Amino acid sequence: MLPLLRRAWAAAAAASSCSSRRGSRRCSLGACCSYRLRDALHPLWQSPLTIPGGTRQSPINIQWRDSVYDPFLKPLKISYDPTTCLHIWNNGYSFLVEFDDSTDRSIIIGGPLENQYRLKQFHFHWGAINDWGSEHTVDSKFYPAELHLVHWNAVEYPSFEDAVMEGNGLAVIGVFLKLGARHEGLQTLVDALPAVRHKDTVIEFDVFDPSCLIPSCPDYWTYAGSLTTPPLTESVTWIIKKKPIEVDEDQLEAFRMLLFTSDGEEEKRMVDNFRPLQPLMNRTVRSSFRPQRRRDPALRPHAEQLGP
Ligand SMILES: [Zn+2]
Repeated sequence: MLPLLRRAWAAAAAASSCSSRRGSRRCSLGACCSYRLRDALHPLWQSPLTIPGGTRQSPINIQWRDSVYDPFLKPLKISYDPTTCLHIWNNGYSFLVEFDDSTDRSIIIGGPLENQYRLKQFHFHWGAINDWGSEHTVDSKFYPAELHLVHWNAVEYPSFEDAVMEGNGLAVIGVFLKLGARHEGLQTLVDALPAVRHKDTVIEFDVFDPSCLIPSCPDYWTYAGSLTTPPLTESVTWIIKKKPIEVDEDQLEAFRMLLFTSDGEEEKRMVDNFRPLQPLMNRTVRSSFRPQRRRDPALRPHAEQLGP
């Protein structure tokens, strides 16, 4: 399975126009490379790169009651250098905010991780309307959007591309977005989005600290999973923050104004860019926090902790 994927990945990377159009920078989402092999439809999910018989695919539904409190899980430490931020890129499936990962200036350590991991990029998934959009769900509840901060294990692997293929290669922090107050940190990014409305547009975006997008509450769930875009490799330690951040309707609408399509093509709004839920199979979701007792869990699901 893996050698096949490795070949597919290499072929996709070679055939991709990512690197030729955009100098030496390679795509770090995975999606865009296979996307460019077939220009016909959307992207991703026509590709033969899916993993048949995968046992740790993502995203999943997190069942609060089935998650297991692990008192040995450490707090996650986040240390980002805002000057490592480089670009915003509409890759035709999401927009990626990319970072200089040539050194250990923006890293995470601790939590469930044995090594420190370098920040490569972050991006979002969102819905056409507010009733869905997140990739993970909590007790089957969707949020309107989900942030993914993608890091790689530079202690054990020489490059992001190598790390993508290995079981402990990547660590992704997931943060749910819920509707509420305007998020001032996110607004800086939202203001830049009109400049990357079309697929394949890139703008400079230097000096941004994405830790402003991560809730200060330390609680998280963690499980072993995969990329949610091809090549879907089972290389990700997921760290899903329990508490969402609030964003307002205008900010979500700014995401929905982006396009899957290039300039000159018939416009297709960039919405519903999430992968469907995958089976949990034989996995345990661990929590860094002790489950709270409720008087009547059946009547009082998790709205109190999660908000609307
Ligand atoms: Zn993602």
